[in-house]
Amino acid sequence: MGHEEEVGEEYLFKIVLIGDSAVGKSNLLSRFARNEFDTNSKATIGVEFQTQVVEIDGKEVKAQIWDTAGQERFRAVTSAYYRGAVGALIVYDISRRTTFDSVKRWLDELSIHCDTTMGRMLVGNKCDLENIREVSVEEGKSLAEAEGLFFMETSALDAINVQTAFEIVIREIYNNISRKVL
Ligand code: GDP
Ligand code: MG
Repeated sequence: MGHEEEVGEEYLFKIVLIGDSAVGKSNLLSRFARNEFDTNSKATIGVEFQTQVVEIDGKEVKAQIWDTAGQERFRAVTSAYYRGAVGALIVYDISRRTTFDSVKRWLDELSIHCDTTMGRMLVGNKCDLENIREVSVEEGKSLAEAEGLFFMETSALDAINVQTAFEIVIREIYNNISRKVL
């Protein structure tokens, strides 16, 4: 007993970024994966993902984070995008209420393709734009509570809470899996 940990365990978690166009999904990913922010938003064609390795309980966990790369503009995120995802960050922009109003629809779409036991976090991005805020922290919190999601406000620009948001989702997935194994 107790030798299982010595066997090279590998964890690979697929996590998807969803939310309206221009809420900052791509910049959250580049901030997380490369600590970069890109002011000119390139409309890349096709789906992209980045793999980031994080350590949880001394174990190497690979997070494969998928970015819609512009598909969401036409509300044409394919089922392949969601396939096999065990985590999701549902992103809105705190300075644009319409993006917050869309969260419900994104959650509906997510529930069609994925198990709701996946690790899900509601992310209110662009919290640096306090002066033009349209969605309060409380509104974000209560929606998250009602839907059973983690919640965090972030700024990809100022590097606020970005690491933490991804890591909470990754840890939740890890905990879910550990509970199943036990
Ligand atoms: P996406 O369409 O959801 O992938 O959004 P992008 O990452 O392309 O960002 C859309 C626009 O919002 C770009 O002009 C970014 O520079 C800007 N942006 C992204 N994140 C932030 C943020 O945290 N704060 C501010 N002020 N602007 C941001
Ligand atoms: Mg993008």
